Amino acid sequence: MHVSTTVFASRIQRFRLPRVCVAVVGEDASNIIDRAESRVRDNPFMEFRLDYLSQPAAALPKLKHFLDLHPEATVIATCRRAVNGGKFKGSAAAQLEILTKAAAMGFQLVDIELQSAEILKPAELAQLKDRVGVILSFHDFKATKKLEETFAEMKQYPADFYKVVSTATSLYDNVQMMKFLQAHSAQHEMVGLCMGEQGIISRALGVRAGSVFTFAAATRGEETAPGQVTASELRDTYRIEMVDAATQVYGVVGDPVAHSMSPVMMNAAFRRETVNAVFIALHAKTMKDLMACIPDIPIRGLSVTMPYKHDIVEALANSDALTRQIGSCNTVVRSQDGKLYGFNTDVAGVVVPLEQRLTLQGAKILVVGAGGVARSAVFGLKNKGAEVYVTNRTAEKGQALARQAKAKYLKRADVAKMSFDVIINATPLGMGANRQSPLEEKELNTKFLFDLVYVPAETRLTKMARAKNITVIPGLEMFVQQGARQFEIWTGKPAPIAEMSFVVTKALERLEPLPAEEEAPPPKPRAAEKPAPNAPTKVAAKATGKKAASPPAVQPAKKAAKKASKKLVKR
Ligand code: NAP
Repeated sequence: MHVSTTVFASRIQRFRLPRVCVAVVGEDASNIIDRAESRVRDNPFMEFRLDYLSQPAAALPKLKHFLDLHPEATVIATCRRAVNGGKFKGSAAAQLEILTKAAAMGFQLVDIELQSAEILKPAELAQLKDRVGVILSFHDFKATKKLEETFAEMKQYPADFYKVVSTATSLYDNVQMMKFLQAHSAQHEMVGLCMGEQGIISRALGVRAGSVFTFAAATRGEETAPGQVTASELRDTYRIEMVDAATQVYGVVGDPVAHSMSPVMMNAAFRRETVNAVFIALHAKTMKDLMACIPDIPIRGLSVTMPYKHDIVEALANSDALTRQIGSCNTVVRSQDGKLYGFNTDVAGVVVPLEQRLTLQGAKILVVGAGGVARSAVFGLKNKGAEVYVTNRTAEKGQALARQAKAKYLKRADVAKMSFDVIINATPLGMGANRQSPLEEKELNTKFLFDLVYVPAETRLTKMARAKNITVIPGLEMFVQQGARQFEIWTGKPAPIAEMSFVVTKALERLEPLPAEEEAPPPKPRAAEKPAPNAPTKVAAKATGKKAASPPAVQPAKKAAKKASKKLVKR
């Protein structure tokens, strides 16, 4: 049956299409149908990758059965040729034949590459477009470049949607894609995104810039393109269905940042307080890349994490007293005129959970560690009138911090001789696959133990403390409190703390369990705490973003632990 363009167009008007199209792959037609059946309720917009099948044409009658049963579904037939990044080994003519059959079977849309369109006769393409909605696509698997030139070529061919997919090698590539979409989406039905881990933000923000829809994986492990996120992540975390031009953009910037819990927590807070905003993870490999993107995305606020908390200070037009005192900024506000203002909410993250339990004035507190977070803890607690002690693996760094904050440095060998109101672990020991404790049992002479490590929720240190009836304050409380303060700075509204805590707790529970590893004994205090430290462990290096010295040989168990450490959660 011949379907006229006019009749067809009404079926695919942009406002009728959901924002997320889920790619479905399978070894055979039954496999695709099984997967589609289980997804169609939540994902009525799907793409069937016919090129993943050994006999795409033979599979079509079976797939038709699914389409007949599900008139509510809109399904794209894609049979991408291997030369253009797909799996179909046939010619452009064979591809056209399959897509034409797919149209006859009831697929509402077909995807055909620019390169195939260039090979086919104009009349052949016109015939296809008469039968079905055509997505003319172009994929660059290496870079984001020459978008305008590519689109100029694409426009020569009639299509219902023009889909341009590139690969982001920097954060700025996402900006290029968004500018490109903004420039053309008023005249054409555009679909655009950047692949790759650095392109994830284009999947959430592309629709804000004019992409009619974007692509997602049905579940983790079923990605059909690098950097593809799941449909539920796009909908539930990034709330893609409500993102529009007025949506304010916030994000967490760092390197690495892919497994940050901040998007889950902040998007939940925005949703709960009905703020039209989206919070994304921005993977910037350099400060220069980050600074180039801030004006163009445009970002309203940033949560800053490793390794930029110190470097961002120089880019600020002004900052709060804590940022100036500590030299570390974890929260940025971008004003209407583009200026950046910095705040430190890490201090609130440490101080608030403690103030909820004890009076800090005069409290005797030991901070273990002298890195970025320890710095915020030591200065923040000194400002509250606490008697603060610092101990650190590298004595020189600990002494310098104690000197600057007017705290006291304590040699590790003396820790066991003292008792405290609070001991704070501000080292990465215990984090992820690392099963070490920064202190030994005999050194835990304290009423409260605040372990800033929050993945996993229970560490060797917290277990030891509980066994000694010490009250444990989980690191999650710091994460939630620093985020709550950020939310308040950005929105002027009280943060929905219970909701924020709940979603992060649930997200942590969903993380893959870390492989069991024999619990290593806690590192002994160094006989003489010399300035030259051992190289950080692999896990510590991951946590701190610093490079660790390679061990002479990696044992299988260590390999597993290393893999698991990639799942570590850093803010
Ligand atoms: P950082 O700047 O790299 O500092 C790490 C500190 O830990 C340094 O003092 C370092 O000692 C010490 N350290 C590292 N490996 C050690 C080891 N094997 N033995 C003894 N000491 C060791 O890191 P950071 O940004 O302060 O973060 C520290 C930890 O805080 C993170 O790993 C994370 O678990 C936690 N954190 C929690 C939150 C939260 O919201 N709950 C937020 C941020 C961070 P040297 O000076 O000798 O190198």
